[in-house]
Amino acid sequence: MKYIGPHVSASGGVEYAPMNAQEVGATAFALFTRNQRQWVSKPLADASIALFKERCVEYGYDARYILPHDSYLINLGHPQSEGLEKSRAAFYDEMHRCEQLGLTMLNFHPGSHLNEMPTDACLIRIAESINIALDKTQGVTAVIENTAGQGSNMGFSFYHLAQIIDQVEDKSRVGVCLDTCHTYSAGYDIRDNYETVWAEFGEVVGFEYLRGIHLNDTKKALGSRVDRHESIGQGLLGIDFFKRFMQDERFDNIPLILETPDENRWAEEIQLLKSFE
Ligand SMILES: [Zn+2]
Ligand SMILES: [Zn+2]
Repeated sequence: MKYIGPHVSASGGVEYAPMNAQEVGATAFALFTRNQRQWVSKPLADASIALFKERCVEYGYDARYILPHDSYLINLGHPQSEGLEKSRAAFYDEMHRCEQLGLTMLNFHPGSHLNEMPTDACLIRIAESINIALDKTQGVTAVIENTAGQGSNMGFSFYHLAQIIDQVEDKSRVGVCLDTCHTYSAGYDIRDNYETVWAEFGEVVGFEYLRGIHLNDTKKALGSRVDRHESIGQGLLGIDFFKRFMQDERFDNIPLILETPDENRWAEEIQLLKSFE
């Protein structure tokens, strides 16, 4: 079965996220557990934690289908020690919040070398950062997202993901989330070479590491390395891609998260996607 839902707002507190998901008919959702544009956030209040858990039970959201996303500021491959330490501290805080909320995954962008260090060294640093966070936490899997490869962002190649995983000590708590928009923009033609790309993913990374999908259409061309999401069926991937995807059992039983730009269409997009199943 497919579990689908958007990245919902948690404004007012994390406890509002399950309600926002339920309102659009979602069976999965993503959220930020702290302000994604600030380095430091207040700790989660006990009342917020309790309400979040209560509402997840009430609306039927199991932790397996909730994919929290970390702050955009965090760069686990930062070339300078100050930026790296700040990122590692914030990442630990994000992982800890997941533990508190009973969530089992944290989705994050791997990091950027900022043109100040070789890519291999950056990938090693990212893996080290993951090892440090996993060492200090329990029960939360670090879920690396592939990127479009804008600027000096790492993670646009399946080989980057594989190299990071290779150096993570606890393989049971590392996984990947593939963003369909990023995958296409990074140069993997999931529209016209659907089977070839997924076979390559299976070989290089392995479906056993796949923990979630960001299901987005894209505004930008194959290999453009530019990250611009589009509503389902309105972009270059097109509706036939999504039909095929929804019938593909390899994507059953993981959260399929919409990060599409028009939130007024989320309910409709979820219905449309479900109709393809
Ligand atoms: Zn994404
Ligand atoms: Zn994106």
